[in-house]
This record gives sequence, C-alpha cells and structure tokens, in this order.
Amino acid sequence: MDSSELKPCPFCGAEAEIVRAGDEYEMVVAVNCTECSAHVRETDDSIDRDFDRLEAQAVAAWNKRAVDLSAILKAGDRMKKELDDLVRTFSVFYEDNVLDYGCAVANIAGIKHAVRAWKKLRTDKGA
Ligand SMILES: [Zn+2]
Repeated sequence: MDSSELKPCPFCGAEAEIVRAGDEYEMVVAVNCTECSAHVRETDDSIDRDFDRLEAQAVAAWNKRAVDLSAILKAGDRMKKELDDLVRTFSVFYEDNVLDYGCAVANIAGIKHAVRAWKKLRTDKGA
C-alpha cells in the first residue's frame, strides 16, 4: 500500500503520510497530516502482528475520516440556488403585501446573509 491511496487531511486538505514505528513488543502505524497535527494511529501487540495489515487498517481509518470537498461544494451550490429562489419568492410576497413587513425583511436579510457567506466560502476555496 502506498501513500497515493491516502485521502487529503479532512481538516486542512494537506497530504498525509504513513509512518511505521514500534519496538519488539508493539507495532505502530500512523497516518499523519503533513501540515497540521491530525493523525490516526493503529497499534498491534499480538503474536502474529503484520505491518502491512496494520497499515491497511490505519489507511482505512484515515480515509474514512476524510471528507469529499467537491460533494460539499456541490451540496452548497444546490442550497444557494434554493436560497436564491426563496429570496425571489419572499420578494414577490412582500410586493403583494402577503407577508408582514418585519417578518419579510428579517427573512430576506437572513437568506441574503447566508448567500453572501456561501459566496465568500466559494471564493476562499477558489472553486
Ligand atoms: Zn491537516
């Protein structure tokens, strides 16, 4: 197993690396983020310990923890579209005097704030 199978760090997005260590009593395999302190650590002190098996466990644990950033960004895009639709809908209701003025303004302001926050997140991520 090599480090190319490792997903990026779920916290900072940096690459991860595999480190084997231990002594005659205990085997240790860690997957460490190369930038922050995120890590997973697997140990084995059994008679039939095996570095490859332990490494596979550590990589599986690390990869399970990883997040799919593109899936999150896609979900955010869908949410933004729904928020844009809501803003338009609230605007129409307000123009038709269907909604109470204070309620409509508060809702529209909240939605616009959420949309601005989302646009900033997209910009910061360069996506
Ligand atoms: Zn990290």
